[in-house]
Amino acid sequence: MSPHSSPFEQLREKFDSSELECRRCGFRDSDSGWRVTTSGSRVRYQFVCSSCHAVETRELRL
Ligand SMILES: [Zn+2]
Repeated sequence: MSPHSSPFEQLREKFDSSELECRRCGFRDSDSGWRVTTSGSRVRYQFVCSSCHAVETRELRL
């Protein structure tokens, strides 16, 4: 097991490999990834749809 494989990185890999699909317009964005921000024990993933500019947000706790 890699010493660099933190829970955060594992979550990030999971999100990076998932498809980005806008819930508002159904646009699929395969070129960009989630924007990741952290605050304390929470990780927030955001994706701005390049078609309708809706913001998808997922929030996770580590
Ligand atoms: Zn959209």
